[in-house]
Amino acid sequence: MRSFAACWLPALACLLGSCSGHGGDDGGDPNPDPNPPSVRPTTSYLNEAVDPTEVFRWTPRFDATEIVVPIEIDMTTLPGAMDAANVRGAVERARDAWLPSIRTVRPIATSTRWLDSDSPFGTDTAKLHIRFVQDAGNGRAGYVGIQRDVPGVVRIVEMTLGTWSSVNNRWFTIDELSAIALHEFGHAYGLYRFGSEQGHTTTPGNVMTPSSSWTTLSPADEATMAGLYGLTPTELRFDTSAPRPSFQITISYGSSYPYGISVRLGTVTHSFHPGGILRLQLASSHDTVALWECPNSSCRWTDFNVIAGRSYRIVDRGNGGLRLVTD
Ligand SMILES: [Zn+2]
Repeated sequence: MRSFAACWLPALACLLGSCSGHGGDDGGDPNPDPNPPSVRPTTSYLNEAVDPTEVFRWTPRFDATEIVVPIEIDMTTLPGAMDAANVRGAVERARDAWLPSIRTVRPIATSTRWLDSDSPFGTDTAKLHIRFVQDAGNGRAGYVGIQRDVPGVVRIVEMTLGTWSSVNNRWFTIDELSAIALHEFGHAYGLYRFGSEQGHTTTPGNVMTPSSSWTTLSPADEATMAGLYGLTPTELRFDTSAPRPSFQITISYGSSYPYGISVRLGTVTHSFHPGGILRLQLASSHDTVALWECPNSSCRWTDFNVIAGRSYRIVDRGNGGLRLVTD
């Protein structure tokens, strides 16, 4: 995704994908390096991989102390020629490889849903969406589109992993796919520069070189990620000069439940009655709204992702359950 500032104003067009044509990140074709360095670097390249004026990273939500990265992986997009079990293993290893570095300074965990043909996509609370394409285009092996909040908090990451090497005219091997995924997860966890659509280092032997073929992190990769999560809030610098649009959504009451429904945004709960229209001001272009629902008499808050500028409707999904759908 191009610099978020450039995407502010027709925000919806950007979020819906027409900005993805602007590039996103170029993972490069990770063909094995014929002359890999024998010793891997150890020095953090944080200053190269992030823009000190626009650092972002994952943070705990609300009053939680642990960072949780909710991930949805759309396996229905995986070409049939690829072995699904091997691909899952590669993605899991890439997802997990960076976590110990973050965990040295902050508790972090992931929650992952693997979506098969029976699973709806995009209806859960996932903040990191992964899909596969045969050809990621423009000679790329993979790329990410990142929406971050001001100040400096990741909101949504859309990761695309290519499966076809246009250089070698064959499917990527699992090792190649592992290298691509490891690199893109590096971006997804925060090694990214918005202005240049980059987030790389030029030092060979690191996963965050533009066409890394490494399937394991170097000590420098680990030090860089630990450095990002070790920054104190006062060390972070954010660009707050960009004008902020009004992040509004409307929700209408389409449920047959006659007594009202509670809707929570952030820490504020709104009560909402049949025939009503609720207008909510989001904190950013993407946010989460929770509905109080009682499926099968078991009551709970259920989160739904929402996008500023859209209209939503609360509908019944049977047995006392509710769903928030685009109106
Ligand atoms: Zn990259």
